[in-house]
Amino acid sequence: MRKIDSIIVHCSATKAGQDFTAADIDRWHRERGFNGIGYHYVIRLDGRLEKGRDVSLIGAHCKGWNERSIGICYVGGLNENGQPADTRTNAQKRVLYQVIMDLQREYGILQVLGHRDTSPDLNGDGVIEPYEYMKACPCFDVREFMKSGRELLFILLLAFIIPVLFSGCRCKKEMLNRNSKIEMDSSSLSRYSNEILRDSSFEEKISEKTEECIEYVFLMTKKRFDKRKNIPCLFDFRCSKGDK
Ligand SMILES: [Zn+2]
Repeated sequence: MRKIDSIIVHCSATKAGQDFTAADIDRWHRERGFNGIGYHYVIRLDGRLEKGRDVSLIGAHCKGWNERSIGICYVGGLNENGQPADTRTNAQKRVLYQVIMDLQREYGILQVLGHRDTSPDLNGDGVIEPYEYMKACPCFDVREFMKSGRELLFILLLAFIIPVLFSGCRCKKEMLNRNSKIEMDSSSLSRYSNEILRDSSFEEKISEKTEECIEYVFLMTKKRFDKRKNIPCLFDFRCSKGDK
């Protein structure tokens, strides 16, 4: 297996709304004299992930970076007037984030770049600025996309964990089961995070669950307060016998 340390994201430089397959790109690249499709993965408009060149093979997508990188291409990148634009559908964004996370984990890759970020640093300040871009591809800021994806993931995880903590007072048995979920190791946590991203209705479920939990906690609080004339501890996860 070759040494891979980067992922480079591309667009197909086709107009928004026009769908193409890995087979189409394979044909275009052969017509340009390549030995088949230059990318390793293609993400279609509906988020379908198609395999291109095998990851074990050196790609043909970014001069100077092919030997060490994996190339992922989303279909699109031009607006209706043929100008560079971030035309990714929500499905493409979701799948792109997911496949990058999977590949990073599988190959231990730290560096994720857009094609344009591989342009030469003309003024040597260590940052590839827009005026230095040799190409617009992939027409969005990949680093910013990954950063905001991680932030979203963190918020979703918090939104998931808080209702779980609240519901911990329902009974000891239920609490133990849920705690084992929270105490997942990092790999299963990451897998679970990916499932969260995949599930577009997750936020709705979270708010439903949160409302349900808050309602329940208020009810329990009132009951215990009335009964013992004492302020109960909402965050006592050990749960007293009376909670069973
Ligand atoms: Zn490109």
